[in-house]
Amino acid sequence: MNVIIEPERKTPVLTVVDVVVVGGGSAGLVAALAARRAGADVLLIERHGYLGGLLTGGFVTKPQAPVVGGIPEELFERAIRLGGARGNTRYRLRNGTYTYFMSPIDPETMKRVAFECVDEAGVKLLLHSLVVDSVTEGDDVKGVLVENKSGRQAIMADVVVDASGDADVAASAGAPYEVGRRKDGVAQPMSMMFRMGRVDVNVLVQYAKNHLDDFTFTYYPNVEGQIPEKSQSLNIVLEGFMSLQQKASDELGYESPRVGLNIKAGIGIGDVFVNATRITEGVATNIQDLTDAEVQVRTQVQECVTFLRTYVPGFKDSYLLDTPTEIGVRESRRIIGEYTLTLKDILHRRKFDDVVAKGYGVIDIHEPGGRRLRFDAIEEYQIPYRCLLPKKINRLLVAGRCVSCDHEVLGTIRTIPTCMYTGQAAGVAAALSVKYNTTPRNLNVKALQKSLIKQKVVLFESVLKRMKTHT
Ligand SMILES: Cc1cc2nc3c(=O)[nH]c(=O)nc-3n(C[C@H](O)[C@H](O)[C@H](O)COP(=O)(O)OP(=O)(O)OC[C@H]3O[C@@H](n4cnc5c(N)ncnc54)[C@H](O)[C@@H]3O)c2cc1C
Repeated sequence: MNVIIEPERKTPVLTVVDVVVVGGGSAGLVAALAARRAGADVLLIERHGYLGGLLTGGFVTKPQAPVVGGIPEELFERAIRLGGARGNTRYRLRNGTYTYFMSPIDPETMKRVAFECVDEAGVKLLLHSLVVDSVTEGDDVKGVLVENKSGRQAIMADVVVDASGDADVAASAGAPYEVGRRKDGVAQPMSMMFRMGRVDVNVLVQYAKNHLDDFTFTYYPNVEGQIPEKSQSLNIVLEGFMSLQQKASDELGYESPRVGLNIKAGIGIGDVFVNATRITEGVATNIQDLTDAEVQVRTQVQECVTFLRTYVPGFKDSYLLDTPTEIGVRESRRIIGEYTLTLKDILHRRKFDDVVAKGYGVIDIHEPGGRRLRFDAIEEYQIPYRCLLPKKINRLLVAGRCVSCDHEVLGTIRTIPTCMYTGQAAGVAAALSVKYNTTPRNLNVKALQKSLIKQKVVLFESVLKRMKTHT
């Protein structure tokens, strides 16, 4: 590769804090709140102008696990009070069994909740700032470098939490990581959600009720005959429509990028979010691949809009309302941590002395390089603290979808609620490391568990038993 040598430069230190959290998505937002509540001086850095990451800006409006306990429950309860979520919800799977997820949410309500909570907690915030590198001394992370409209600055901290989704800080510091399936490194596809307006949801739900075999999972409570208009809001999820895709293929030669698509009601009457696109080539951390994916996926969105309007009951008069700021990434770097959580661990519900978070709900693997979807309900499972600790590198914790697990486990650990709970664990661990003048690697895990329970995280009880209500 052709290179240039940049001149040495002096970089101003913008601030020195106890804990820096990189990335204000599901994991980073909760990590920052948790660290602050555990007593640390915290700065949260986000490259966009809003918080919530994929949950808000990416239109990923269906947190695919129940939310029980800790800061995540507070966030969703707040959203429920504002009318932006309905609470934990019982979903029917195709085989007639049930599982639980949080209801669909309204992205704008969650953006508001996130800013309010950060402000009330006293978390410092730096928006529109891209973390471009880590500051290291040997194997110790000492801070990060950001670039923004003011130029380039250093932010120094005792502990850094990498919640960037792509493990940007860990990778830049030299932490080992892997990407995709073990056999060929191919990752789950990238996709772009989009929102349609003026959909006749009554017609749509009647179609689902009459063709249950055409759906992988459904949720439409209190729907008997005509739906009272208000009950449409955030109250409907349908995954399937395979027979209509087949019909479009036979008649028009339309090849949907994935088998089955997902539709969930938004907050406005007739608004629905659609998950139907899929880019199967390229690596999300390669900028040319990401650029190509962004262009291609927007063509897929337009093609899918035509399919919906032509073939799916209720969409005849609908239109494309809006798209997210950028394509969504399901899988990129996963750190190799002190422990790598495996599929066997979660299927056997292995218990860990250093459990700091729990997952539950489903394994949802969008076929790498292909069109299919694996979607299996699973029981609750434990996530050990060591999955948040990168090998080799000190003073760094990782939270969210880049924690240490195998490719299959990523299919469940990447769900929004689970990312939030690894975020809470990382945030408290970072704050306690500062408080006890130690490193995350040497932190007393019993003290960490005690603090997490004090922050109302469910660690040793059953999540299902603790669930207060569901719809
Ligand atoms: C299309 C799609 C559909 C999905 N559907 C579901 C679903 O139905 N239910 C479900 O529960 N999950 C779903 N997921 C998965 C889920 O959305 C993600 O795994 C989860 O949101 C990841 O949370 P996170 O906090 O780890 O990362 P993110 O939400 O991606 O947050 C990372 C944040 O870090 C910021 N950032 C990144 N790099 C930097 C940097 N260098 N400097 C500064 N800031 C940075 C980003 O802007 C972002 O705000 C879906 C994912 C996709 C892509």
